[in-house]
Amino acid sequence: MNEAPKTMIKANLRHSFRNFSNFNRLNQNKSLVIPEVKPKATANTFPEIKEIRLTDGLNEQYSPKHKPDRISYEFPQEPKHKPNLRWRKYFPIFALVGGASWAAYTINYFIDDIPSEYLSLDKFIPFVITNKLDVDQDHYLIELTPKYNKWKKSDNQIWNGNKLWSVEIKQPQIMVVRKYTPLPLEIHKDQNEIFIRVQNEDNYREGKLVLYIKKYQQGEVARWISRKPIGEDLELRGPFIEYQIPQTVNNKDYERPIFENLPSEVRPDDLNKLKITPDNLAFFAAGTGITPILQSLLSKNPYFGFTTIYYSRRTTSESKPFDRLLYFLEKLDRIKLVNFIGDDKLSIEAIPDFNPIDYKVKTEKLYDQKPDDSIKYPVFKTALEQAVAFREKAKDSPSLSIVCGPDAYISQIAGYKPYNGQGKLSGWLKANEWDENHVHKL
Ligand SMILES: Cc1cc2nc3c(=O)[nH]c(=O)nc-3n(C[C@H](O)[C@H](O)[C@H](O)COP(=O)(O)OP(=O)(O)OC[C@H]3O[C@@H](n4cnc5c(N)ncnc54)[C@H](O)[C@@H]3O)c2cc1C
Repeated sequence: MNEAPKTMIKANLRHSFRNFSNFNRLNQNKSLVIPEVKPKATANTFPEIKEIRLTDGLNEQYSPKHKPDRISYEFPQEPKHKPNLRWRKYFPIFALVGGASWAAYTINYFIDDIPSEYLSLDKFIPFVITNKLDVDQDHYLIELTPKYNKWKKSDNQIWNGNKLWSVEIKQPQIMVVRKYTPLPLEIHKDQNEIFIRVQNEDNYREGKLVLYIKKYQQGEVARWISRKPIGEDLELRGPFIEYQIPQTVNNKDYERPIFENLPSEVRPDDLNKLKITPDNLAFFAAGTGITPILQSLLSKNPYFGFTTIYYSRRTTSESKPFDRLLYFLEKLDRIKLVNFIGDDKLSIEAIPDFNPIDYKVKTEKLYDQKPDDSIKYPVFKTALEQAVAFREKAKDSPSLSIVCGPDAYISQIAGYKPYNGQGKLSGWLKANEWDENHVHKL
C-alpha cells in the first residue's frame, strides 16, 4: 500500500526534469523565443516548453509591409521640446471671464448713477436721514449723511464761514423744492441724553449736515420732511451761495481759528497777523433765520469781526439746541446776543449806528500792506484767555447788516425783499442812515 505513491512521485519527478533540461538547452540559443508560461490548475511545477527550430518560418512567403519600420543609425537628436498647450484648454474660460468683466464694466459705466460729488447744482444727490431731534412742536433738527462715499475722493471745502449757503430739498410727490440752511453740526444720542456737537475739520469727512426746520400749519415740505423716519433718503441740490461776506485784506493770509465744542480748546486769534481791525456785523434773525449766522460762526474760517445777533423768537424753547453754542460764542467774545422773546419785540431803538466803510477801497489800498509793527498784541495761550483780556473793550459800530426771517420781519427792518434781488433799502436801517451797500436781506 505504501509503495504505490512513491513510484508515482518518482515518475513525475523524472518527467519534470526531462522538460527542465530541454528548457536549459533551448535557452542557450538566443534566437529562440521563450513561450508564454501559463500555469495550469493541474499542471506540473514546471510548464511544458515547446521546442522551436531555427528553420521554422523559412518557407513562409515574403510580403513587404506597407509602412516599413525604419531604423536609423544617426546620432540621436535632442528630444524636441513640446510646447505646453495646456492653456489652450483654459482659453475659452479666460475668454468668457474677460468678456463678462468687460461687459459688466461697460454697463456699469453707462448706468452707474452713483454721484461723485458731495453736492451739485445740476442734479439732486441722495442723503440719508441719520438722526432727528424734535426741538418743540413746531421745530426740529434733522441730521443728513451722504448716501454714497464717492465724493470723499475729492476735497470737500463746503464749510467756509465766508459764504452763507443753502441747499434745496426736493419733495418728489408734488415736485417742489424748498431751501434750507445747513449747519456743521451732528446730533448725538446717548442712552439718556441727546446733544448737539459742532463738527470739526476731522469729521467733515463724514459729510454730515444738520438742518433746523420750522413746520408751518399749512407748510407742505417742512411737514413732509418731519414725517420721514431715520434711514430714509432726502434729495439735495446745491450749494446755493446766498451771500458772500465782503473780503478784506485780513482774509488774504489769515483764517480765524475754528470754534470747538469746548471753548477752552479754541485757539486764540493771532492778532499780530491782522492788517486792519476787522469790521463788525449786525445780524437780525427771526426764528429759523438764526441759521445763516450760526453756519458762518461754527464753520471753518468763521466771520472775522465781532457780531451782534438780534435774535427774535416766540419762545425760549425753540432755540434750546443752540443755547449752549451761543453762550460759548459769547464767552469767546466773538458775539453778543440781544434776545427778543415773545411780546418783547425788536424796535427801532435797538438798531445800531452805521460805521461806514468802503470795502473795495479798503481792500485795494491795503492789500499789500504789511501788518502794523507799531502795534504788538500780546500772545495768548487760549481763545478764552484772549476773550477775558478784550471783553471789556468797547466794540466799534457795525459796518455790515444782514437780515434773515419772514417777509414781514425783513420789510420792517430793511424794506421789502422781492423773490429775486434785494429791493430798495428802507425800514429801520434806512431810518438809522444805513446804506444799501452795507445791508443784505436773506
Ligand atoms: C435761502 C433760504 C434758506 C432757508 N433756510 C431755512 C431753514 O434753515 N429752516 C427753515 O425752516 N426754513 C428755511 N427757509 C424757508 C424754507 O425754504 C421754506 O420756505 C419753509 O420751510 C416753508 O416751506 P413749506 O413748504 O413747509 O411751507 P409752504 O407750503 O411754502 O408755506 C405754507 C404757509 O406757511 C407759511 N410760511 C411759509 N414760510 C414762511 C416763513 N418763512 N415765514 C412765515 N410764514 C411762512 C405761510 O403762511 C405759507 O402760506 C429758507 C428759505 C430760503 C430762501
